[in-house]
Amino acid sequence: MTVEPTTDREHADLVARTLRIAPSTWQSVVARYVATGASYGQSVRDRLQSLAKSYALESPHQAPLPTYDELAPCSACHAPTVTPLIARRNDPFVLVYGRCSTCGHGSLLSGASPPSVYERSIYYQERDDGGVGYDAYELERAYREAKGRRLVEWISSRSERPPRSLLEVGSGFGFTLSAARSMGLVTCGIDVNPYAAAAAERLYGFDTFVGTLGEARARAELRLSSESWDVVLYQFVLEHLADPAQELREVAALVAPGASLCVVVPSMSAVEVEVFGASYRSFRSDHLHLFSRRSIERYLASAGFALVAAKTTCSLHLFRGFLTAQEMEALYAEECGPDWYVLARRLSQ
Ligand SMILES: [Zn+2]
Repeated sequence: MTVEPTTDREHADLVARTLRIAPSTWQSVVARYVATGASYGQSVRDRLQSLAKSYALESPHQAPLPTYDELAPCSACHAPTVTPLIARRNDPFVLVYGRCSTCGHGSLLSGASPPSVYERSIYYQERDDGGVGYDAYELERAYREAKGRRLVEWISSRSERPPRSLLEVGSGFGFTLSAARSMGLVTCGIDVNPYAAAAAERLYGFDTFVGTLGEARARAELRLSSESWDVVLYQFVLEHLADPAQELREVAALVAPGASLCVVVPSMSAVEVEVFGASYRSFRSDHLHLFSRRSIERYLASAGFALVAAKTTCSLHLFRGFLTAQEMEALYAEECGPDWYVLARRLSQ
């Protein structure tokens, strides 16, 4: 059977939006793929390789890799084994990502957005050409509340006893906190973006601390110190920070031994990196880090946490039409999905 994903217009639009390419580019990729004669009779790896070759010929993002005289050691494992891997055309700049050959961690070597990008109101209103920011964020409320509920259920199912309280850093509009509250948890949110904090108050009546966890701790915020937090949650936050290890040490100083830390971050080990190269969805100028299982473990250990559970998954399936649903699930089970979901426990001192 020959695969013909072009017939599914909705999926083609999803892929084009996620990879930030023109729909016509994706149609050309699919046409090239079909011309290779790839079929469900071939192995998953063979089909993905055919797709990768077809994609490389059409990629609008692929750029020549610059050379570097010297690179800093890996921020996760500290080995001097980071080498440039991918250059992405992101007009007018080029983003360059390196990968550590020791732990697999990905780091942005050049082309980073200024940190002030997160404090602008526009961050939750518009997505720029480089993929930074969110559009239609509030319109996705029901979807994101449901996703938040599934996440809190996953955390609970992996915890020794049901958590009673949850602190979210980077709580945005409060979608996950709202789900947690409806499940009976005491909640608190922290976010550097005042526009998001105002939206969380308007939508749910939440009193979000505007700033970082470090700032909240330095000011001895009552909202934080009045609770002994069972869970601290970071969803798509650590990849934006220059020093994720320092952030996790702030968490370790806040919570008691046995408390849970849940981290959701983009993966550097995703099969999409191999297939889409520079167009991989998480290569964007505000992503300073992309994680591997080993790099996550190193960051956690350096802050006094031990990994309890980890999985990769994603709700936007770009390989539909190329892989069956079962093949897709098997890939994610091999930890090749685009997003890491990690649960860790604070160790005793
Ligand atoms: Zn490393």
